[in-house]
Amino acid sequence: MHVGGEQAGPGQSQLATIRERIAAAAAQAGRAAAEVTLIAVSKMQPPERIEAVLADGQRIFGENYVQEAAGRWPAHREIYPDLEIHLIGALQSNKALDAARLFDVIQTLDRPKLATALAKAFERLGHARPLYIEVNTGGEAQKAGIRPEELDAFVSHCRRDLGLSIAGLMAIPPAGDDVAPHTAFLGRLAERNGIERLSIGMSADFETAIRFGATHVRVGSALFGERSPRKVEA
Ligand SMILES: *Cc1c(COP(=O)(O)O)cnc(C)c1O
Repeated sequence: MHVGGEQAGPGQSQLATIRERIAAAAAQAGRAAAEVTLIAVSKMQPPERIEAVLADGQRIFGENYVQEAAGRWPAHREIYPDLEIHLIGALQSNKALDAARLFDVIQTLDRPKLATALAKAFERLGHARPLYIEVNTGGEAQKAGIRPEELDAFVSHCRRDLGLSIAGLMAIPPAGDDVAPHTAFLGRLAERNGIERLSIGMSADFETAIRFGATHVRVGSALFGERSPRKVEA
């Protein structure tokens, strides 16, 4: 385990504070804190901050880039075998095999070509991984994600034709939008497709998302501090 300039040790991170905020938001909504999973978004964070969050007991992390995750997590897995690493960034079909090797959960399934590539990758590796479908709840032209009106057909294609396990729905609402209606909408889409997990809510709005039904919140900067603008070496 390598530690950077700063000392990284138990009690050094904001983890306890974030967990308290999650528990309070859940309680306000009459939900148990255990119904909400914190995904610590570690993209572009320096190693010492990640070490501190690991030392404080966090085991579920989200990464945006296949290459950055490949450089970071295999070494940690030797020390922490119970790690669960989620891919929350865009995935190219030609990296499906790498992603299926590296990640425990892939949250950004957003098109049929990628579904086919992941099904092939799982077959080749002899293991499948739970998938979340990314939904473009804001209907933004440039944004990744399945259009809400195409979701039901895509879910049955993934399940019936490809044998994929669809465990959740994920959304990144338009910048500046209130997360509440997006969460409620995502919940209705999930319910009618028999999907249980809802990944929505980030540093600025995770408490609201929890009040409206989020089961997985993706928190980066509020937990680790602001991301460094320069590229972190892999
Ligand atoms: C970076 C990122 C996050 C975390 O954002 P913060 O505002 O730092 O909490 C969550 N989800 C996705 C998809 C991201 O890319």
